[in-house]
Amino acid sequence: MAATRTIELRTEIPGPRSRRIGERKEAVVAEPLGLYLPVVIDHGRGATVTDVDGNTFLDFTGGVGCLNVGHAHPRVVAAVQEQAARFLHTDFTIVPYEVYVEYAERLTGLAPFAGATKAAFFNSGAEAVENALKFARGYTGRPAVIGFEGAFHGRTLLALSLTSKTHPYKAGLGPFAPEVYRVPFPNAYRGIGVRDALQALERALSTQVAAETVAAIVVEPVQGEGGFLPAPREFLQGLRGICDREGILLVVDEVQTGFGRTGRMFAVEHAGVEPDLLTLAKSIAAGLPLSAVVGKAEIMDALWDGAVGGTYVGNPVALAAAAAVLDVFEDEGLVERARRIGETIQARMLAWQERFEPIGDVRGLGAMLAVEYVEDRETKEPAPRLASRVAEEAARRGLLLLKAGVYSNCNRVLCPLVISDAELEEALDVWEEALEAALA
Ligand code: PMP
Repeated sequence: MAATRTIELRTEIPGPRSRRIGERKEAVVAEPLGLYLPVVIDHGRGATVTDVDGNTFLDFTGGVGCLNVGHAHPRVVAAVQEQAARFLHTDFTIVPYEVYVEYAERLTGLAPFAGATKAAFFNSGAEAVENALKFARGYTGRPAVIGFEGAFHGRTLLALSLTSKTHPYKAGLGPFAPEVYRVPFPNAYRGIGVRDALQALERALSTQVAAETVAAIVVEPVQGEGGFLPAPREFLQGLRGICDREGILLVVDEVQTGFGRTGRMFAVEHAGVEPDLLTLAKSIAAGLPLSAVVGKAEIMDALWDGAVGGTYVGNPVALAAAAAVLDVFEDEGLVERARRIGETIQARMLAWQERFEPIGDVRGLGAMLAVEYVEDRETKEPAPRLASRVAEEAARRGLLLLKAGVYSNCNRVLCPLVISDAELEEALDVWEEALEAALA
């Protein structure tokens, strides 16, 4: 047990107040918005969540990867309050505001592009993906898009067409957008090597879709929802080579990997590959709805005036939060912090793998780490119930933990990077106890 304790549990989990709100929800909120865990938040600070029953949890879900700077960071809150008091909305293209331009200056300066770079802002990750593909189609004049098995790019039509998990995301919700093709993603644990994946892509250009009709290849540098599978460096470099050869744009989706999670500001930097377009969301604005497409200026300028936009896109309050997030990253060294947190977590996970037979794989990049559970290390049959059990046992002990993976058989880490060393030790101790309990 860690010496200092942050977790404080005063009731059973979920507590009576949380439970009552959950019951009221049943009557008035649409069924598909099921609650992962019916613990109702009262407030969040840093890496902790305190619920309406007064229980304090350590939060490894981080708002599904939105809270790299933590809950309610004082600098973000101050920036939001200041902007909210001045004005909330105009529509940037009607009555423009400086924070949009200023943040675009900062973000294009940080993003991994060599030449002239431009940005456009939207609300969600899915919207960023949809718009990146508009830019790509506009620039290339080509219709087709290639994505990967196990990918997640969002829930709107084109993004959902690219998303590659049938249940619960796609089943029964077609028809999907045309001209979307899918090829295997490298997965060393399940026997798909870099060469296999690149050969499958080359084959698809002969058997499925002509290269000269492909606008873009869309790739996550670490598959997020798909189970924290890093794209090996040689794979991303291989994609870059194919794209260059065929005049296809490389769209790198960093919605989940961006803003320090992997120990670089952007995960694609690990591979030394320059994308054509980058999509960003989640931790960009500490939980406020904001997303971005950043890319080579000539691509970003290829569409005509009015071709992208939206009433709410690039909201000034969200942009003020985003600027504060960059300040926090600089002042608190969060990219370096992600690396150190990642080392600590990975060491613990590898020790668990030695001890617990069902942990088939430990993988990830920086502080983007997951364990994959299997019924049997030989057959590698996925064990999704175990991932749920561990998450339940962890919550009962004060740690909020997410699942992931195309088979929903992983537990993943998306903790705020501002988590203290003591909190991290405490959380990992609780995870270990949850593993013991789930396997008892
Ligand atoms: N791309 C990636 C890589 C994601 O992880 C997600 C969300 N999990 C999305 C796109 C979609 O983002 P949003 O839910 O904000 O639409």
